[in-house]
Amino acid sequence: MSFSEEIKQQALDLGFDACGICRATDSGEEERYMEWLRDHCQGSMRYLERSIDKRLDPRRLVEGARSIISVALNYYPLEKLPGKVPQFAYYAYGKDYHDVVREKLRALYSWIRERDPAVAGRYFTDSAPVLERFWAAQAGLGFIGKNTLLILPGRGSYFFLGELIINIELEYDAPVAENCGDCTRCLRSCPTGAIEKPYRLNGARCISYQTIENRGEIAPDIVPNLRNNVYGCDICQKVCPWNRDAVPHSTPELMPTADFLSLNLEQLQEMDEERWRIVFRHSAVKRARFEGLKRNAEAISKSRRK
Ligand code: SF4
Ligand code: SF4
Repeated sequence: MSFSEEIKQQALDLGFDACGICRATDSGEEERYMEWLRDHCQGSMRYLERSIDKRLDPRRLVEGARSIISVALNYYPLEKLPGKVPQFAYYAYGKDYHDVVREKLRALYSWIRERDPAVAGRYFTDSAPVLERFWAAQAGLGFIGKNTLLILPGRGSYFFLGELIINIELEYDAPVAENCGDCTRCLRSCPTGAIEKPYRLNGARCISYQTIENRGEIAPDIVPNLRNNVYGCDICQKVCPWNRDAVPHSTPELMPTADFLSLNLEQLQEMDEERWRIVFRHSAVKRARFEGLKRNAEAISKSRRK
């Protein structure tokens, strides 16, 4: 077994569901990315306007970068919130993915360095300017769908991504041949028209942005279209035919608590900050902050009254 194959096997042994490797190089995505920024698709997410050179070329982010090891971790839940209660995006059901994926990446990096102490690099999971889906596609994990998410053929898109960028040459994988074909279900199903055209998501119009990143009021034209989504939105994943074969994950840290699974609109509206801290203690939901979650619950209540 080559070192590259051993790394991929070790990633699977650590609990990742997929691992691929590609060369660290210029992404060639500058034109598309700059156009997206020019059209203000980033909303108020100013961090997307910073470190653009590093985002477009990982060799500027990690000194001596030669290879990107890309990993995916399934988060599709076995047990879900009932359809009638306010919905949280599946990725936020369990412990904060930053902690869960980072811990596994740390273990993978340590294992690689034990095998070869000359290896140096850094690992990330949605924690640095990295085009994660792009590199995952380059590393052969899947393809980028028209909803802009990474789709693993036969397994769907409910996956966290992470990457380890290191300073040695490895064997590289090839992108997969699958694609969306003539399907347009996500474009037709997005309630806010955020997927403006295939492969182009206007972040500012997306329910995920409006309910998580947006610190102000939810845009008035989005409120009637929230469709019961109180934190994030999975609609463009739920309608995707590739997710019909999604298999629930078995990662203990990503299992939802009983408190979480019993949430309803009334509880969310009555929740005080202390209770919020207890229910979402280790959760990515904290990103929306207490005020944000209360705002979202009110917006859902308002949209239900109409
Ligand atoms: S997450 Fe929801 S709002 Fe955002 S693009 Fe997908 S369907 Fe549209
Ligand atoms: S719903 Fe259809 S078009 Fe959209 S990402 Fe899935 S396969 Fe592609």
